[in-house]
Formats: sequence, C-alpha cells, structure tokens
Amino acid sequence: MNSQEVPSNKCRYNRGYDSTHCSSSSVVIQKRWESLERPGLSRTQSLRTHGCNSGEEGLKRVSSAPQLGDQDKGSLLKRKLSVSDLESCFVDSSKLHISKAKTCRSVPEGMLDSSDFECSLCMRLFYEPVTTPCGHTFCKNCLERCLDHTPHCPLCKESLKEYLACRKYMVTTVLEVLIKQHLSHDYAERTKTHLEETRELSDLTKNVPIFVCTMAYPTVPCPLHVFEPRYRLMIRRCMDTGTRQFGMCISDSQKGFADYGCMLIIRSVHFLPDGRSVVDTIGGKRFQVLSRGMKDGYSTADIEYLQDSRVEDTNELEKLQELHDAVYEQAQVWFQNLKIRFHNQILQHFGPMPEREADIQATPNGPACCWWLLAVLPIDPRYQLSVLSMTSLKDRLVKIQHILTYLQSIPNN
Ligand SMILES: [Zn+2]
Ligand SMILES: [Zn+2]
Repeated sequence: MNSQEVPSNKCRYNRGYDSTHCSSSSVVIQKRWESLERPGLSRTQSLRTHGCNSGEEGLKRVSSAPQLGDQDKGSLLKRKLSVSDLESCFVDSSKLHISKAKTCRSVPEGMLDSSDFECSLCMRLFYEPVTTPCGHTFCKNCLERCLDHTPHCPLCKESLKEYLACRKYMVTTVLEVLIKQHLSHDYAERTKTHLEETRELSDLTKNVPIFVCTMAYPTVPCPLHVFEPRYRLMIRRCMDTGTRQFGMCISDSQKGFADYGCMLIIRSVHFLPDGRSVVDTIGGKRFQVLSRGMKDGYSTADIEYLQDSRVEDTNELEKLQELHDAVYEQAQVWFQNLKIRFHNQILQHFGPMPEREADIQATPNGPACCWWLLAVLPIDPRYQLSVLSMTSLKDRLVKIQHILTYLQSIPNN
C-alpha cells in the first residue's frame, strides 16, 4: 500500500483516544485487511487439509512464507499497481512467474511493505497482532486499550463481550511470522520501540504511575476495585512490564494528589468478565513526590523514596525500644476493648495486628504495627499523611501514642 492511500487523518492514542474518530480511516483499512487477511488465512487452512507431503512439511510452509495463489497474487499486484506505472507491471508479473517456477515459498521482493501490516489504531506495524472473532486485527495492546472503554470491535463495532470475558488474546501467528520474515527491518525497529516504551514504563523513580484514591501504608494490604479505563491500563502496564508496582496517593484539591504516598505491590489481579478487576495489593516503600505528570489519562510522578533515619546511639535506641513496647501494649489493649463489630471489621479488612518485631529498625519503614495502627485508627487522612511522611520512628510512635490516649479517654470509644 502506498502512502497516498493512507488516510491523512491518522488517529493516535496521544490525540485523544476515541475509537469513533477512526471511523473514516477505518473503512479503507478494513477493506485492505479483508483483502489481505482472508486469502492468507484460507490458504493456511487449505494447506493443512490438502497436505503437502507430511504434517511437518505443512507447518514449514505456513511458517516460511505466504502461499499466494495466482489469483491472490493478482489482487495484491493490483493494489501495488495502483501506485506504480504500467511498465513496472510487466516487470513484476514476469518476475512473479519466474519466482513461482523456482519455488512457491518466496514472495517477490517488494510485494509486501510495512503499511500492509499497519495497525489501524496506532498506525504502526503490528506488534503482537491479535485477530478478533469478527476478523479484524490489531496490536494486542491497542485492542486491549479499546476494550477498556467498550467491549466492541473498534472497526466494525461487533460485540466483543465474550472475547473480553475469556481474555485469550492469542497472537495471530501467521501474521507475526510474515512480518518477522518479510519485514525484518521494520519488525526490528518496532520491537526496539516497544522495548524502549516498556523500559520507560518500568522506571520506579521517574514517571511512576500514581493511583489517586486512598491512603496506603507499608506492609498493609490494600484491595482495589479497578473499573476506570485509565486505571485498567495502568494496572495492565504494571503487570506487562513486570514491575507489579504503582504509587498510591490521596487526592489534593490544589496539586491533584498529595506530596507523599506509598507504593503498592500487586499480589494478584482477578479479572471480571466485563473487564473490571479486583486487584490485591500490599503496601511497599513510602515516597515523596518531586514532580507531577500525566500519561495516557492517569497521573505520574517523579519520586524519591523515604526511609527512617537510623538511631545508632545505644541509650537513645533503648529509649526508643521502651517507647515502642509501651505503644504496642497500649494498642493491644485498645484493640481488645473495641466493640466486637469494629474489631471484626478491622480483622476482615486489615488482618490481625502484626506481631511485635525483634528489631524495630530492621526495615526502612520501621515496625509494621505502626502502619497497621495508622490504617485502622479513625483519624483524618491529612493527619495520616503527616505521619506517613515522617522519617523518625520516635515521632511516629509519639503521634500514635497521642491518638490512642485520646481514643481511650472517650468513654465507649
Ligand atoms: Zn497498534
Ligand atoms: Zn470487527
């Protein structure tokens, strides 16, 4: 396909991702793909049924080159010819016959070009092409982004509810093989771009994805119900890149989200048939936001991780240990005396109070019991945030002690 035939109003994600904008360009592309995909696929099937010499031979043929019949060649040629002059037509068709005489496994050079294998959503060479039940092909990632918004084919609008529900986006091998073999340079470039993008998305200090929702704390579980398209994308990226992490911050009316937050580590994702998901996470490192950004609809931030300043002085450490033990015991009493209803609710949501730790400075976040208490105590998120940002265990223990003392002073707290 020639560049003239490529519609000028290409739609890309970064120009506002709305599949309806694709409609004018879609028609052209759809026709292209109908003409290219169908013969290719039926050819694969016919190879299998008629059999060459053996099953193995059949497989080799499928994976070595597209097997085009004369008629198919004609249609492909016609598409090529619409852009080239008549003279080259004769040259090409004669070459075709010669090449057929030699072998039927090769495609004459220049017969395929990368625009024949362009995803109609990102306008780039297919990467991990998947074909929907309605017969349309897209990059896997591109299709998934469409399905985040609506369970319909972005080209023909056919319902893809069942396709989405089973989430088996199998790569269309014949296409991938074609691309790898006949467009190896473009494929290498596309792979390079994909890897670069993945690397950018994997950075855990720069442009870190931020979920703006609730307070999260180190070691404390945080189950999330993910339904917004932008967060579906974000969670998928965390899984695809393998980081399995994102930042969690509470919202801030002026800045968008707070200056401090906590990383959440994804333990499991349970997808619901309609594309929503229940994501089980647990708090990781705390961080301070250095700068804010946006990526495909969700917030991002450059961050710096926080860690408690270590107490080295023996006397001071002894005092710190005493303070910790006192707060721990006070918390146990408070929790045991809670009304059974609240007690059970806390157990259900946050699990039991963490065990007393042998070394209170073992991790950069200090003992887990502090974070568990912060999560379950009925206090204002802004107050919780100020305690989250502290890098002194002593200050944190003193704050928690104040809250516990206050709560215990209220009758029937
Ligand atoms: Zn694409
Ligand atoms: Zn379709």
